[in-house]
Amino acid sequence: MFNALVMEKDEESGLASPSIKQLSLDDLPHGEVTVAVEYSTVNYKDGLCTSPKGGGLVRNYPHVPGIDYAGTVEASTDDRYKAGDKVVLTGWRVGEAHWGGYSQKANALADWLVPLPDGLDARQAMAVGTAGFTAMLAVMALEDHGMTPGHGPVLVTGAAGGVGSVATAILANLGYEVAAVTGRPETGDYLKSLGASTIVPRTELNETTKRPLESETWVGCVDAVGGEMLARVLGQMKYGASVAAVGLAGGAALPATVIPFLLRGVNLLGIDSVMQPYNNRVRAWQRIATDLPMDKLEAMVHPATLGDLRQLGADILKGQVKGRVVVDVN
Ligand code: NDP
Repeated sequence: MFNALVMEKDEESGLASPSIKQLSLDDLPHGEVTVAVEYSTVNYKDGLCTSPKGGGLVRNYPHVPGIDYAGTVEASTDDRYKAGDKVVLTGWRVGEAHWGGYSQKANALADWLVPLPDGLDARQAMAVGTAGFTAMLAVMALEDHGMTPGHGPVLVTGAAGGVGSVATAILANLGYEVAAVTGRPETGDYLKSLGASTIVPRTELNETTKRPLESETWVGCVDAVGGEMLARVLGQMKYGASVAAVGLAGGAALPATVIPFLLRGVNLLGIDSVMQPYNNRVRAWQRIATDLPMDKLEAMVHPATLGDLRQLGADILKGQVKGRVVVDVN
């Protein structure tokens, strides 16, 4: 028997609520690889999946949330994995459509897993989590479109959140000047400790302007916010620069014009971590192991247990989680 956080739906109200239950391996949905989960984490999507209506992501109850996890393979019917292998899982709608990592055991398809790279343990992998993995994908996309250090500041929006914190630390470590946008001025020292050179108050960027182009400022942008902020930032990019659109913490709308694309050759790059092909996943995890300073990662970590998840899920939906929560499921 093992512990898991299980969401169950009250048929009368139609609302789901979490509780910690004892399950057996027979309760788990079918999978090729059984993983002894060591750590999971809390992402925005986890906030949705642990909310009473499941955020439109969870269709079937009972449900075990947790969109990512890391641990050790216990048994495998697929040749690619054997007992004792260290693995990490993000995406593939695990924790939404499939049972996830808020559990001491999980069943996965072999295709969903990535071997942990040398230099990264399960706890560090979940300090990175989907948020940090996505931040790495965003930085890789910007590099693939020509961004190099030494040509001006890179903007990171939603900087004190999970994606933003990891993006800030990676970019600073790679030698970029990082301008970190935050709506929480009290996180300024934290962001500077991660390597940000400038703190940009959210109020400077979250209002629309009638001017489709402003002065050319940023050589790249990792955007976790979307909405009006993304629209505004597009008009501030340097000629030929790229914005990696990662998130929608500030809204899904994009009230922009096409002028920055047409007159400044600005690129808007979509970043999806969920269906990311295997080879690029491996590449991203290897880059994380080499390009993310582990002392900076440690400074982002807030430890938690399965019992904390109800509160943390609500907090992340309100934008109140700083850095990365690491959930010790044991
Ligand atoms: P967090 O909640 O940790 O961070 C989001 C940050 O955005 C907050 O900390 C806050 O930063 C800022 N923010 C929140 N609300 C607003 C607002 N109304 N206007 C402007 N800024 C705001 O979430 P994550 O970092 O885990 O995820 C960030 C986004 O990326 C989410 O939308 C998430 O769904 C998405 N995402 C997408 C993935 C993909 O595959 N594309 C994968 C992972 C995440 P501050 O306090 O510094 O202002």
